[in-house]
Amino acid sequence: MIRRFMAGFMAGRYGGDQLNLLLTALYMVLYVVFLFTRMLVFEVLVLILVVVSLYRALSRDVARRRAENARFLQFVRPVARRWNTFRARTQDREHRYFKCPNCGQHMRVPRGKGRITVHCRSCGAVFEEKS
Ligand SMILES: [Zn+2]
Repeated sequence: MIRRFMAGFMAGRYGGDQLNLLLTALYMVLYVVFLFTRMLVFEVLVLILVVVSLYRALSRDVARRRAENARFLQFVRPVARRWNTFRARTQDREHRYFKCPNCGQHMRVPRGKGRITVHCRSCGAVFEEKS
């Protein structure tokens, strides 16, 4: 019964997206900060974030909420991609990563082969690199 009520209540409303997920995570973090500091600023920020994320989730203006989320993703994706690349490279123990000194193309060589000659596929430069 409650489930049917909720389904009817949420029909036509926007619901959750990545931006709301971030807002929710942010207000949880700020709430913990508030619990430790008891500073009014954090309480007000938590309240604002709760109101904004609830407003977005319950909104019937789906097109506008989608556009907001798309703008948010456009901003976040390059950061996320960079972070994923950084994490993959720091976890990869079998390769050494560097940039081509001529064109800046990202390259990798297998580790532990001593000094090796590298050909850049992007610009054709040839140079020595330790691996
Ligand atoms: Zn190059």
